[in-house]
Amino acid sequence: MDQALKLETLDPSRRPHIGIVGAGFAGLRCADVLLRNGFRVTILEARNRLGGRISQERLPNGQLIDVGANWIHGTTDNPIMDLVKETKTATGVWDSSSNIFDEDGRLLPLEEGEKLSTLVWNIIEDAFAYSNKYGPSIDPGKSLLDFFQEEVVKRIPDTEEGYERQRRLLLQMAELWGSFVGSPLNMQSLKFFWLEECIEGENLFCAGTYNKVLEKVSQPVIDGANIYYRTRVSEIYGKSMTQTGLAHVKTTDGQVIEFDELVVTCPLGWLKQNLEAFSPPLPDRVCRGIRNIGYGCLEKVYISFPTAFWLNPSPSDGRIVQGFCQWLTPSYAQNTNPKRWLTEVVELGSLGAAAHPTLLFYTFGDQSHHLTSTLRALPSNKEKDAFVYEYFKPYYSRLPSYDESNVNCQPTAYFATDWLGDDLAGNGSYCNFRTGLLDGDKDIIAMRNGVPGEGIWLAGEHTAPFVALGTVTGAYWSGEHVARRIAQTYFRGKGEEKERVLDGEKGCHIQG
Ligand SMILES: Cc1cc2nc3c(=O)[nH]c(=O)nc-3n(C[C@H](O)[C@H](O)[C@H](O)COP(=O)(O)OP(=O)(O)OC[C@H]3O[C@@H](n4cnc5c(N)ncnc54)[C@H](O)[C@@H]3O)c2cc1C
Repeated sequence: MDQALKLETLDPSRRPHIGIVGAGFAGLRCADVLLRNGFRVTILEARNRLGGRISQERLPNGQLIDVGANWIHGTTDNPIMDLVKETKTATGVWDSSSNIFDEDGRLLPLEEGEKLSTLVWNIIEDAFAYSNKYGPSIDPGKSLLDFFQEEVVKRIPDTEEGYERQRRLLLQMAELWGSFVGSPLNMQSLKFFWLEECIEGENLFCAGTYNKVLEKVSQPVIDGANIYYRTRVSEIYGKSMTQTGLAHVKTTDGQVIEFDELVVTCPLGWLKQNLEAFSPPLPDRVCRGIRNIGYGCLEKVYISFPTAFWLNPSPSDGRIVQGFCQWLTPSYAQNTNPKRWLTEVVELGSLGAAAHPTLLFYTFGDQSHHLTSTLRALPSNKEKDAFVYEYFKPYYSRLPSYDESNVNCQPTAYFATDWLGDDLAGNGSYCNFRTGLLDGDKDIIAMRNGVPGEGIWLAGEHTAPFVALGTVTGAYWSGEHVARRIAQTYFRGKGEEKERVLDGEKGCHIQG
């Protein structure tokens, strides 16, 4: 009889009982693997729903949208891609045409946009190669912006006509990196840029939203685990703190719950703010990891229209805008955007069967703080609506075929995220790697190791394999990894069976 079966047939009260704090993809996957290995599992989730930073909302016009993740980063050997296929979730990808408005609000000719966009991505690829090769000797203070500034003079020489403008545009375009990591370009560590590299393959937009994948990942957990919703953990105690030798938690409503092992999947931003929740204190190396790794603030604003007017050829030059579009360092939005933050959008009107006439704006850094804090402070929905439409009008009104007097060009609905205001998301979006970081890889490994001796394990996107840090796949793998380590702890010394009980796990490319 294998170990999993032995555990299954034990009196339920004697089966090892594993507590999981948080029901995002890390917690859900961890629970699934533990259940399949015969453990008793209880999830403590502060929200009234599963999924954490994967969640959906309906726009007032009925359209379902993703509030958190909506890209699949990498299609090769990615278990999330397998789930996308299994659930027949629609995905989208756009061709590479580059729609870029310069600082005066003029749409660059397509060839110029494509040339600059290709240069930006070539420099990013070279920065990855440089960081991979020379990481240990790169000055921790050096940023990706520094790398761009050095490269731009090599790639656009003084001999090229209009070189100064071309260099300026390229450096402005490079700022779009902020939409990937949630923090500005000058804060991106070059030394640890390699930690931003993704799984191989394409980046696909989850056009049908993540909701069916979430349902699929949740189902076995709903069927097999105890789930306590609206249960917020405020104190976490290791095994050495009790005579029973069990780990336990206290919740904000005064419950004390004991477990054989406890997996904490709270976001990195939450850990940063709640280090004192742990008794005994987390080891110094783990605390340093938590403090050292950055946490970004990507936010999204969806704005819907009656039709995707930007896909109608412009009466003047026949241009349409498909896929991504950027408005660089705008000089023409002084009232609403005096700091001239870059604005980027992906239009969702050309997603085949899943298309809807919506623009999805991405913001990061100070712009995210400005938008979320302003919206939070506005007292009525009417004022919030007016603010959002006015704030983004300088940009959407520059899209081809926009006509102020045409009702099809008037926004009908919007949704703005506020992860910065969400303490259960750690008041931010996901981990990133900032200038000044000295030992980023070791920081991740320290967090990933957790404190098994105390029965305290850490999982979540910030503890993922390096190729998937900060992503849905990374969160999923991190949960799987911890479950496997816990199973190994309980079946220690029975090598053959140890391998067998892990059957059924897939895509577990654990590094570090
Ligand atoms: C705006 C945005 C866009 C993103 N875009 C992408 C993308 O396109 N592609 C991609 O791959 N990734 C993206 N991500 C990142 C991705 O969503 C996360 O990496 C992943 O969902 C994290 O999963 P997790 O399980 O680690 O954490 P979470 O999903 O945050 O789960 C943690 C859970 O713990 C709960 N919790 C927190 N504190 C407590 C407590 N004290 N007691 C009880 N429960 C608690 C929370 O409510 C939450 O449910 C994005 C994230 C954001 C915010």
